[in-house]
Amino acid sequence: MPEGDTIRTLAQRLGPRLEGRRLVDAQSRWPRVVRGLTGREVGRLRTHGKHLLVPFDDATWLRIHLGLKGTWHRYAPGERWRRSQGDMGLVLATADDVLVCFFAKELERIRDKALSRSPRLASLGPDLLGDFDRSEALTRALHDPGRPLREVLLDQSIAAGIGNEWCCELCFLHRLPLEIPVGEVGPTALGALLDDAVTRMRAAVGQSVRNTTGRRVPRTFVYGRRGEPCLSCGATVAMARLGPWARISYWCPTCQSGQR
Ligand SMILES: [Zn+2]
Repeated sequence: MPEGDTIRTLAQRLGPRLEGRRLVDAQSRWPRVVRGLTGREVGRLRTHGKHLLVPFDDATWLRIHLGLKGTWHRYAPGERWRRSQGDMGLVLATADDVLVCFFAKELERIRDKALSRSPRLASLGPDLLGDFDRSEALTRALHDPGRPLREVLLDQSIAAGIGNEWCCELCFLHRLPLEIPVGEVGPTALGALLDDAVTRMRAAVGQSVRNTTGRRVPRTFVYGRRGEPCLSCGATVAMARLGPWARISYWCPTCQSGQR
């Protein structure tokens, strides 16, 4: 699933193929967002949380959010795509590469001057993979102490970058129940969790497969491991759809019982 580290890895891979190069073609299923981009030069790619930002020399940016299913492919000019044209969200082509984004959830063209005011970007909290403002993130997180920890970690307006997999893994690593009110976690334990998120997510940038356990198998402690034994205590990993978005969540009922 694309989370902050995935998007940063993506920017690292797309960067050398796009930055400083001129587009020979730009297409989208929403043609308005790529209007006038053919012939434009691409600037330095940026990310904030799960958003990829691509600048052009006409003082505009593309903001791309992959959602759950979005993915990029790279092809040689003229090469046959491995997915259908109907799944295409965006094509950015240079003389050497055809970069295709399939299933993009959000695609927006923004003028340079309006970038910081763009509603989807302005609402984001400190970027775990950027110049992370820890105290600002903690203040935002503890603003509503009754909110479940899982919901707070997934809320991009508190800290940007954590998705469902990192949320489940971090709560396990810190032995915290997913649904514990964030006020009960408190600033010390929550700060430690966020510090760990920064360290682990930054270390994951550039990796093709995310790995929280450091083992070859399994590569996650709880995420995707319903019914399998907890690596720490042997109890059976539980799974349920939790919260307003019914996110599939995993946890160890023993390690994360809330008893400390
Ligand atoms: Zn356990």
